[in-house]
Amino acid sequence: MTSVADVWPDTDDVIGELPALELAGAEEIIEWTYERFERVALVASFQAESGVLIDMASRIVDELEVVTLDTGRLPEETHTIMERLGRRYPIRLRVVSPDPDELEALTAEHGTNLFRQSVDLRLRCCDVRKVRPLRRALEGYDAWITGVRRDQAHTRGGTPAVAIDREHDGIFKVAPLAGWSRADVFQYLEQHGVPQHPLYARGYTSIGCAPCTRATTPGEDERAGRWWWEQDQTKECGLHPLTVVREPV
Ligand code: SF4
Repeated sequence: MTSVADVWPDTDDVIGELPALELAGAEEIIEWTYERFERVALVASFQAESGVLIDMASRIVDELEVVTLDTGRLPEETHTIMERLGRRYPIRLRVVSPDPDELEALTAEHGTNLFRQSVDLRLRCCDVRKVRPLRRALEGYDAWITGVRRDQAHTRGGTPAVAIDREHDGIFKVAPLAGWSRADVFQYLEQHGVPQHPLYARGYTSIGCAPCTRATTPGEDERAGRWWWEQDQTKECGLHPLTVVREPV
């Protein structure tokens, strides 16, 4: 297994800077990331948080390297917002797809809508369509930026602003919006005139693959529309596992 020291000889220096980043604003964290690391991937799902990150980062770097996962089951509206933001901002977009052999083997055995059959099969679908492609996509980067927020789910409540990501060869995982609320995100988008994913206007509050996402009703949890048939399950796909923890300093 790759050790953090293999990836970053000056890891101790970086780790020493992490506590201060917990108190920093999102723009400051993004600025620090691009100053500190040479190869940075902004990983976007093109939900509202991606719009905030792209808008902020575009003020800091001339060209943004944006990585997105095209699972093959995304709603058409996600491609629409991808194109709109791509026209507005200086983005170099890397669209990452599942491995065709892995996908063919999975669907040959379980069908294309396997996620309805059991939680285990749903997680296998997410693994092949999301988790493995992201792991491959992040090879060669020093850090990745994600729009995950602590208040999205109890599983994300311990998300640090910056941490070593053991799931991805010890590169750094940066969550500039970790301490933001949903209201903060939409207020920023309105104030800065950033285009929004069309499905928000149709009652969606969290947007993933088309067959696994529905609109929510007032009072429902923000992520209630994700894998809604799994009401008692943890609503995660594996991209943000709990194993990503803040390093002791
Ligand atoms: Fe598969 Fe649904 Fe996960 Fe998308 S969200 S990868 S379709 S299980």
